[in-house]
Amino acid sequence: MTNWQDDASRDLMSLGGRLALLTRGEGSWVWDADGSRYLDFLGGIAVNCLGHAHPVFVDAVSTQAATLAHVSNYFASPGQLELAARLKRLAGTGEQGRVFLTNSGAEANEMAIKLARLHGNRSGRTTILVVEGAFHGRTMGTLSLTPKPAYRDPFQPALPGIRTVERSIESLEAAFDDTVAAMIVEPIQGEAGVVELPGGFLTRARQLATDHDALLILDEVQTGSGRTGEWFAFQGAGIVPDAVTLAKSIGAGFPLGALITFGAASELFYPGTHNSTFGGNPLASAVANAVLGHIEDAQLLDNVKARGAAIREAVAALPLVAATSGAGLLIGIRLTAPVAAQVRAAAHDRGLIVNAPTDDVIRIAPAYTIGDAEVTEFLSLFEAALTAVAESVPTASEIHA
Ligand SMILES: *Cc1c(COP(=O)(O)O)cnc(C)c1O
Repeated sequence: MTNWQDDASRDLMSLGGRLALLTRGEGSWVWDADGSRYLDFLGGIAVNCLGHAHPVFVDAVSTQAATLAHVSNYFASPGQLELAARLKRLAGTGEQGRVFLTNSGAEANEMAIKLARLHGNRSGRTTILVVEGAFHGRTMGTLSLTPKPAYRDPFQPALPGIRTVERSIESLEAAFDDTVAAMIVEPIQGEAGVVELPGGFLTRARQLATDHDALLILDEVQTGSGRTGEWFAFQGAGIVPDAVTLAKSIGAGFPLGALITFGAASELFYPGTHNSTFGGNPLASAVANAVLGHIEDAQLLDNVKARGAAIREAVAALPLVAATSGAGLLIGIRLTAPVAAQVRAAAHDRGLIVNAPTDDVIRIAPAYTIGDAEVTEFLSLFEAALTAVAESVPTASEIHA
């Protein structure tokens, strides 16, 4: 075969990645250029919620591409209107909700920052609260919301006025004051290693934001669109935010994101304050309508909940596994030693795709369509990978001997 790694190093920006040259996918499986098959339990990082080449996705892309793909934001399209109404219904915004469609998660979060500015600037408040471990994207604005030094430091100076809250109710309560325009928070921190917030954190954040006339904005780029078994993770937490952002699974592989506002926050943007050339074009909108419509019709959220619970129970009994975290089919598997990179590589060698967001966490985010065959194959490949790495990891008693 061609030496694709040489081509990649010569022609692509040197930013890492490129574990294999993938050429084809079907359901939960992908194939590389040598014909090796992998079970894809990362799902394009929580994106391919219907797996690969799902007929609903293929038909929506093909049909809409042959009908009307793009028209610019001077015009509306039926699919865009249908998608906005659908998102309002799924999010439960009621009549007052509004939707803006973007092309990515970072773009939706950029708009969330602008929403915070529109709100705060009316009373001179510019502080935006974020949570330790947060990830909100790689553009300059969203990077400013991302406390991780390795991501942010090369690009200083960041946006001013960003304050980081620890993952505790006490820290949350101490951080809110009358300079705060908004808090932006992930209900479950995917990139940090599928880290859950302490119980009651979002409820308290909701109360404090309301008391201080600040916006509570949820970044559901990774947790939204059904990933946790609810359409939005906030629905499981029993709160209503002022705005929520989406991307990743909403297009099942087609680039698309959204900002959805609730109540009075829907009145903040006005003509001239935002736009996007591609955002919510007829092609992207048609795909998202087909994907979300299929998730509803096929009642896939029941499968997300059931398969997620079954996987977590089975994984907890495997070697090297300390604990699991997450909700639905966004699962963090915490290991007893910082060997997640080795486990990821051992899984890859055996034909299983997962990732290692931290030293000791493996993340899986498989398709909502997985059944018995996928779960059984996952458990067997993952156990083999864990066993291989466990044999090379000294046990605590060996270390202390
Ligand atoms: C992936 C992700 C983003 C960034 O989305 P992009 O589409 O890569 O710009 C933002 N927030 C969260 C929580 C994410 O998981």
